[in-house]
Formats: sequence, C-alpha cells, structure tokens
Amino acid sequence: LYNQVQDLKGNIRVYCRIRPFLPGQPSGSSIVEVIDEKTLTVLTPSKHGKGKKSFTFNRVFGPSANQEEVFSDTQPLIRSVLDGYNVCIFAYGQTGSGKTHTMTGPRELTKESIGVNYRALSDLFLISEQRKDSISYDVSVQMIEIYNEQSGVNVPSANLVPVTSTTEVLNLMNIGMKNRVVGSTAMNDRSSRSHSCLTVHVQGRDLSSGSVLRGCMHLVDLAGSERADKTEAVGERLKEAQHINRSLSALGDVISSLAQKNSHVPYRNSKLTQLLQDSLGGQAKTLMFIHISPEPNALGETISTLKFAERVSTV
Ligand code: ADP
Ligand code: MG
Repeated sequence: LYNQVQDLKGNIRVYCRIRPFLPGQPSGSSIVEVIDEKTLTVLTPSKHGKGKKSFTFNRVFGPSANQEEVFSDTQPLIRSVLDGYNVCIFAYGQTGSGKTHTMTGPRELTKESIGVNYRALSDLFLISEQRKDSISYDVSVQMIEIYNEQSGVNVPSANLVPVTSTTEVLNLMNIGMKNRVVGSTAMNDRSSRSHSCLTVHVQGRDLSSGSVLRGCMHLVDLAGSERADKTEAVGERLKEAQHINRSLSALGDVISSLAQKNSHVPYRNSKLTQLLQDSLGGQAKTLMFIHISPEPNALGETISTLKFAERVSTV
C-alpha cells in the first residue's frame, strides 16, 4: 500500500528547504518568501524596483521547519526500501545552505536536531523489528566519498559492514570521521568539495516462502553547488570545482531525463551517476532536498539552485 501511495505521488520528488539566518552573522531581510506548502518566491532586483519570481515544488520547508517535519514526508520511502525498492535521497545546494544540517544535523547532535540519515536508519530498524515474525532482515552500510570523480578515498568503511542498530551506524560514522587525515577546518572545507554517500543495503528473507528481496538506500550529501566561475579558483581548486560542476550537472541531466521520461538516460557522464545507476530510474525512488540561503548576497546562487531544482522537478 505504501508503495502504491508513493507511486501515485511519482518516483521523483523535490523538496526545498530554506535555511534561517544564522546567529552571529549579518541578518537582514530574506530574499526568499514562503507562499504556501509548495510555493516560494524570490525577490529579484529589477529595473523597476523589485521583481518576484515564483517556484513550485512537492514541498517547501521554511526557515522555522524543524528536523522532524523535514523528515516526516520521507518515511514512506524507508518502507519501500524494506519492500525491496531502491531509493536515493540527495541534499543539494551551495556551501553553507544547510545540506549537512539536513542529512546529519548540527555539530552537537541532540535527539531533536538529528538529521535524515539517522532518522531513516532508526525507522528502518523499527519497521524491520515490527516485521520480524514474517521477514528476517539483514542490514549493512557502506560509506563512500566521491572526490574529483574518484570514489572510496579516505573512507575506512567503504566495505559493506553489517549493522543491527542505529548506534552501530553512528559509531561507524564517527570512526569514519576520525580516520580522516585532514584537520577539522580542512575537513569542513574538503567535505563541501566531495560528495559523501551513506549506502544502506537491506536483504529480507520471507520466513514462510524463503523468498529473498533486496533494497538499498543512498543518502547523499552532495558537494557545494556554487559555480566555479564565481569562486575565481585556480589550479587544484579549479580542477575540483570543474569536477563538481560536471558531476552535479550530470546528475541534473539524469534526473531531468527521468522526470521527462526520456528513453535515453545519460548515466555514464559522471562517477556519481554511474555509482547510483541502479537506484535512479526504473522502479527506484528519488528524493532531492534542495537547500537555499536567505541572505541577499546569496541571490545568484539561490536562483541557480532553484533553476536546477526546477529542471529535475516533475511538478
Ligand atoms: P552545507 O552542508 O550546505 O555546507 P551546513 O549544513 O554546514 O551547510 O550549514 C551551515 C551552517 O548553518 C551550520 O552552522 C548549520 O548548523 C547551520 N544551519 C543550516 N541549516 C540550518 C537550519 N535549518 N536551522 C538551523 N541552523 C542551520
Ligand atoms: Mg556540508
């Protein structure tokens, strides 16, 4: 039933989340206004005073939306993983727009502030526990970082690791972070220039029929979407920026061809889309969390992020 409900809603969903102004940072008036649950407008300067451009998505979460609200519509996807479907959940946006906040949470995690990754996993364990009399599930996780179109670097748990609880996954992720050779500032910096993907593999065995189903879920905190030409990068940084731009636009191309039901889907154009090929398209379900910042100086990036979102959206 859950999958039928999801199917009715479509296999590609795009949610937009607007970050609040941050304490200690210059505030001002937001360039983004929430109109209703699905619509926002952006104030754009124009020749005749101010213009407004409107965007519509499956959901719009304003700056005061909390982690629980943001996760709530995601729950049917978790069930579908346990029913044998593949799912991709992406966080897209410029650096500082709140991708990691949505997926992982703030630096100091609390029960309330914890992000989509942990909520998804704890739901997954909860539902598998509820079904344990009819289906026996094995869950394993894998963490992959894609940096400069190469995968697997610096990640001790790039191998599949069997897990039985959210706590185990949390521990694994902490180990993953501690083992990174780069210092913490450098790590922050680096994390915005690589795609980090937590993949959860689920195998369920029906206890009466013996039949086996497999599903998997990719939780992807994408590299910052800011345009290379704006950052005035040179050398190594420019190369990184070009790799990021290429893989994000390849991802956009894949999702928009799926959204338009094109017969050719260009999976081969980046490492990221190759890695996720089995979980993008067909019966698989995609959820894209688009992040935007409210500050006037983010206008250019906010508009280009929203244009990307429009391109992959089916609304
Ligand atoms: P990104 O991963 O896109 O670079 P972060 O998730 O690191 O951005 O967010 C940048 C800063 O803004 C962090 O300090 C984060 O805690 C804060 N932040 C982001 N989104 C929110 C939110 N919805 N509510 C409160 N603080 C947020
Ligand atoms: Mg981040």
